[in-house]
Amino acid sequence: MPVTNSLSQDSQIHLAVVGAGPVGATAALLLAKQGYKVTLIDRQEPQPGPVGLGMDIRNVALSPASAELLKGVDAWPQKFAAAYDTMKIWEQWGTNDLLFNAADVDQPALGWIVQVAPLLAALWQQIRAQAEQINVVLGQVQSIETPSLKGQLKSQLQGPQGEKVVLVIQQQDDEQRVTVDLVIAADGAESVVRKSLGVPAMLIPTGQMALTTIVQTANVHENTAWQRFLVDGPLALLPANDANLCSVVWSQSEATCQRRLALSDEEFCRELEHAFESRLGKIQAVAQRQAFPLRQQLAETAMPHPRIVLIGDALRVVHPLAGLGVNLGFEDIAELLKIIQVNAHFLLDDPSSGLNKFARQRHLRSESMLRALDGLKRLYAQDKPAISWLRNAGVGIFNSQLWLKRQVMREAMGLSSKQ
Ligand SMILES: Cc1cc2nc3c(=O)[nH]c(=O)nc-3n(C[C@H](O)[C@H](O)[C@H](O)COP(=O)(O)OP(=O)(O)OC[C@H]3O[C@@H](n4cnc5c(N)ncnc54)[C@H](O)[C@@H]3O)c2cc1C
Repeated sequence: MPVTNSLSQDSQIHLAVVGAGPVGATAALLLAKQGYKVTLIDRQEPQPGPVGLGMDIRNVALSPASAELLKGVDAWPQKFAAAYDTMKIWEQWGTNDLLFNAADVDQPALGWIVQVAPLLAALWQQIRAQAEQINVVLGQVQSIETPSLKGQLKSQLQGPQGEKVVLVIQQQDDEQRVTVDLVIAADGAESVVRKSLGVPAMLIPTGQMALTTIVQTANVHENTAWQRFLVDGPLALLPANDANLCSVVWSQSEATCQRRLALSDEEFCRELEHAFESRLGKIQAVAQRQAFPLRQQLAETAMPHPRIVLIGDALRVVHPLAGLGVNLGFEDIAELLKIIQVNAHFLLDDPSSGLNKFARQRHLRSESMLRALDGLKRLYAQDKPAISWLRNAGVGIFNSQLWLKRQVMREAMGLSSKQ
């Protein structure tokens, strides 16, 4: 079924989700499942990603909690999700491996490495199947207007409860203005919604880029997510469905990244093998390499206006070293839905009454995650012998404390709220 490429006839909509990436698309499906009519706006349908060695180069690690959410909307791309039951972490100067096993928390898997293009395809297939509930609008959101913007410092913006907001959307040569009761902004790290409201974002520079690709290794990956902390940044080899293929996420300084992008395949494989201590034997083949600038950022608030919430990367961007970006976005949705369920009867008349709590809680959670990831990155960037000795001693102690490891694993798997 083709997507509906138009706005609702009266140019007045109740619930708009801006951005149909993994977070916005899932939010729209879950809201539709709860009976809401949703307008989902994205500048384009998902584009096929670069493919290498037979699979998408873009991959994300998803937790069991995220898998459950996607299964709940029939958008789990089973054939493109590789389970991992073990995680091995070690460092450049260390001797101890930090080990996590799914069996320690009585789970079949710690998580799944999921190919992004098939994930988006699965989400959009469900969206198209729900044309009654979800009106897809292909257009670029240009700005968002609230009457209270006029004459106010944008950063102090807190509009009156009753006032609705206006989305300005560019569709080919037409500019549409649509009045909306509640906007859920999932328009990514460069969120136009956030920027047009003048909401500042705290930026923690990483000074790093991520080089991503797919490699074929001589030894099988043992359904293990491998990560080595190098002084220049963490290197992860993540298992694919084929036992000899791994996706690579290699964080490093920009200059090193540019140099490694320019290497021949053969030179790159040898350098990667060396950095990875040949833990999976010889690197036999590599797909095309891609680089992404890495940043960490957090918007000043998750609710810049009583009728607007920010979720996913629009709210915060985290370093990929813990594979948390989409998972945190899915957590946003789960928490938002809880609030919406409780406040359903007055949600669209006075959204802020329930959403304040959501905004506070998600902002705090994002802040603590950002600080923790930044701390971890800095800790492993230290190559002073005393600090590396302490890190190793800490890893040894942590490995022997199963109860503590279980807590950490349950938290990372999104199981901490369950028994
Ligand atoms: C190298 C790397 C590795 C990563 N690994 C992991 C991992 O292992 N696990 C994990 O959970 N996360 C990972 N992430 C993070 C993850 O990719 C992001 O957190 C995730 O893509 C955010 O999803 P989103 O839907 O919030 O935003 P996006 O994916 O950015 O989607 C935003 C959507 O909004 C649309 N849009 C934007 N602006 C407009 C506009 N003005 N008008 C209309 N539409 C608009 C875009 O077209 C897009 O569809 C990784 C990131 C990187 C860079």
